[in-house]
Amino acid sequence: MIPLQNSVYKEPAPIVDRENPFESMMQRFDVAAHLLNLEPGVYEYLKTPVKQIVVSIPIAMDNGEIKVFEGYRVIHNDILGPSKGGIRYSPDVTLDEMKALAAWMTWKCAIMNIPFGGAKGGVRCDPSKLTMLQIEKITRRYTANLLEILGPDRDVPAPDMNTNEQIMAWIMDTYSMHMKRTETAVVTGKPLILGGSLGRKEATGRGCMMVTLAAMERAGLKPKETTVVVQGFGNVGSTTAMLLKEQGCKVVGISDIAGGYYNKKGIDLQRALEWITGNKTLAGFSGGESVSNEELLELPCDVLVPAAKEDQITRRNAAKIKAKIICEGANGPTTAKADPILQEMGILVVPDILANAGGVTVSYFEWVQDRIGYFWSLERVNRRLERMMKASFDAVYENATRYNVSLRIGAYILAIDKVAKTLKMRGIYA
Ligand code: GLU
Repeated sequence: MIPLQNSVYKEPAPIVDRENPFESMMQRFDVAAHLLNLEPGVYEYLKTPVKQIVVSIPIAMDNGEIKVFEGYRVIHNDILGPSKGGIRYSPDVTLDEMKALAAWMTWKCAIMNIPFGGAKGGVRCDPSKLTMLQIEKITRRYTANLLEILGPDRDVPAPDMNTNEQIMAWIMDTYSMHMKRTETAVVTGKPLILGGSLGRKEATGRGCMMVTLAAMERAGLKPKETTVVVQGFGNVGSTTAMLLKEQGCKVVGISDIAGGYYNKKGIDLQRALEWITGNKTLAGFSGGESVSNEELLELPCDVLVPAAKEDQITRRNAAKIKAKIICEGANGPTTAKADPILQEMGILVVPDILANAGGVTVSYFEWVQDRIGYFWSLERVNRRLERMMKASFDAVYENATRYNVSLRIGAYILAIDKVAKTLKMRGIYA
């Protein structure tokens, strides 16, 4: 008989005090759809995900007990091409969050002129409480459950929160085992030796740095006179901080889950990185005055880069922000209710669907390289990334000016218009 206590292992549904991410996305979508005068049928089509898959992932733990995890993959849209988007492992993953993030991927790819649709996946689990072997089992079972969905021409995952290149390698291997051939292009963000791309790991942060510079130029800010605060010191936050510093900016504030640090004279980022490597978090870092995560967002600075997680800038703290530019390294760091407050204050917000699109852009380069079997130099990857980030920033900026709206709504208009026009051209198959 299966012992009863097994049921206590099931992850409880998270209790979250935040705006519903799908509704947050839809509020912006609605504004853009209205300005575009989108016909009702197209509106309905573009708001509805094409597929929402929920899978159960039973895993035998080290002591032989079975624990069941829940996994998701939402394909929001595949009109522009195979769907593309990351996979996150986190205790607060929900289907609604996946739906919002999948839609953001559709808009992101459209803005960047990448021939992909949008998707997102995740497993509700706490990787910090799991061993490598358990994470591998979860990853392989999740992949096996999605075999009919995945494929280089169908749906192509990538890393996201708490997933990395090792996890991508397991996805690639599991898929390849079932297909009886090595299929590298089924997933991006892989280790270099398995068909990964040079520059992919830093791509989101590099792209974020590039559009921050473009926004600074429009706002008349010179790098040498610009102070920056970065929330989140993971891959995106730390890379953006390092690269902006390399460009001459002064990074005065950083943070991670353990809290924030402020140093008017500039944070020694190299030391912070070394600290994290040795201590896992920034806790105890002595390179600046300790501040809470809330205080960090309200620090005096020219540029604020929220690169941690969703719902950080809300209607409660938006009015207290002092930055002139916000460049959204994370997905959904600003709630829909905070948008008008920031706009009223004249803060230039580079929206997530543009600011962090460097990651999926180099994912696209990786997919192309895997398929042609010829790999590019880092210089070529970065040069092409720069060209595409700049072109998309200018297109969003011009669109926003033309419609007299924020960069965010300008970006949504650009993306929705492109997907809607493609839909019209393809027509509805019945
Ligand atoms: N997870 C990243 C994002 O949110 C990358 C997705 C990808 O490369 O497919 O943009």
